[in-house]
Amino acid sequence: MLGEAARRPDLLVEYLHRLHDGYGELKPRHLVALAEALGVAPVQVYEVATFYAHFEITGDDDEDAEAPPVVRVCTGLTCAMHGADALHAALEARLAGRARVRWAPCLGRCEQAPAVLAGKAALAPATAAGVEQAIADGRTGADASAAPNLVMYSLEGGYQHLRACLDGRHAPHEVIAAIEAAGLRGLGGAGFPTARKWRTVRGQAGPRFLVVNADESEPGTFKDRFLLETNPHAVLEGMLLAAWAVDAAEVFIYLRDEHHHLHAMLARELTSLEAAGLSGGRALHLRRGAGAYVCGEESAMLESIEGRRGLPRQRPPYVAERGLFGRPTLVNNVETLYWAREIIVHGPETWTRHGRNGHVGRRAFSVSGRVRAPGVKIAPNGISLRQLVDEHCDGMAEGHALGAFLPGGASGGIFPAGFADEPLAFGTFEPHGGFLGAGGIVVLSARDDLRAVARHLAAFFAHESCGQCAPCRLGTERATRLLEPPRWDAAALEDLGAAMADASICGLGQAAPNVWRTLLRHFPEVAGR
Ligand code: SF4
Repeated sequence: MLGEAARRPDLLVEYLHRLHDGYGELKPRHLVALAEALGVAPVQVYEVATFYAHFEITGDDDEDAEAPPVVRVCTGLTCAMHGADALHAALEARLAGRARVRWAPCLGRCEQAPAVLAGKAALAPATAAGVEQAIADGRTGADASAAPNLVMYSLEGGYQHLRACLDGRHAPHEVIAAIEAAGLRGLGGAGFPTARKWRTVRGQAGPRFLVVNADESEPGTFKDRFLLETNPHAVLEGMLLAAWAVDAAEVFIYLRDEHHHLHAMLARELTSLEAAGLSGGRALHLRRGAGAYVCGEESAMLESIEGRRGLPRQRPPYVAERGLFGRPTLVNNVETLYWAREIIVHGPETWTRHGRNGHVGRRAFSVSGRVRAPGVKIAPNGISLRQLVDEHCDGMAEGHALGAFLPGGASGGIFPAGFADEPLAFGTFEPHGGFLGAGGIVVLSARDDLRAVARHLAAFFAHESCGQCAPCRLGTERATRLLEPPRWDAAALEDLGAAMADASICGLGQAAPNVWRTLLRHFPEVAGR
């Protein structure tokens, strides 16, 4: 299975994928053989293989048994609102003995709910009959991507600015100054000023790395998938401009594992970029996650690229100073690089002339839930939820009135309709216990059960906690039980939330309490106080 590939432990997750792709699952003999090939202890391979949800591990070492395909049914909030429970039950009954039916915390296709991954084929919106037919027909491979290729993008003027940079007709400080003039902030959720990050990394001694975070896994967020599907070379040009600006020696793209169609397309296009000399001599690597939400956290992602479990690191040091393989590392999200290219090529005013309600710029909002036309909406930064729903989503879905909304996916809190006229922008929701984050907006109806929503989201965090620190490992679990009774123990939930927010190592444990803290604060009647 490994062929002539380098026997490097940092490629452990990738090699587990190769074995899994080849055999359909991992058997004990595969893990032992891989440990031997890489020169590491079997326990190291075992702990990594068991950390990631997408590796099916069997205790059966039978040589002949053929592994049936895995069918993953999305249990994300929007899919749950669109019948995921019934779909899962129907598939378990229909596919017994022919497929392994699993729950998936989120497949990143909220606008197409309910979503299913049959092997590597995405089916959305999915029906039980449609999935059964796909299994019967053997249609479980990755879908062919219709994305434009390098030649077409270049014919339309793409990569001209990058070529000018590589030819020395621009200077890195000019490019960083353009990003600074626009005021672009990181759109993976944290909102850190992009120019400051680029300057910090460039100021460190080399070699430096660039890592593209394409592991968007926040339930309710699917914009990065959309941008890579519809305009991948705009993202890749932004990536190469950033790599040039910080003088990165190598570039890594970390792609979430559910997007098999994007993996095939990116592998092809990265090879084309290197062959065309557009990488500036930098090696371009494509790595995939394996089903761990926490790997969207930048330091956990670096651990995963290094071949380990995705356990977030303590900071300082920050990854800009000591990141991938201990070297200064620029980590940028897909959408940030998409807009960075737009700003560098067309000037900061292309960004600053957009905006609404006192804010500047644009965002790719992921909108799902009870709206008539869900999807990715490119809209002015600062647009209100009401404006977004009315002007970009054709209004609320038939028979539904706005009841509440999640501005920032599972971790950004739950807000009442009274916030619908506030700007969707960094800083709006923080004073009220939440945040916009990556702009994964889930619209809820007045008929939706907010207590059930809270339990659903709390269960998600309990499932996805990496378990490294006690406040999060125990707190997320305890929260699922505290949210069960008809009358919530508000004091206990507040205490728990404060401890988790203060003492958890990473954003997962720090933000998980936003679910119940915003409900207690903004919906006291729902919380049963
Ligand atoms: Fe892991 Fe949760 Fe601690 Fe983050 S906060 S390091 S996810 S246990």
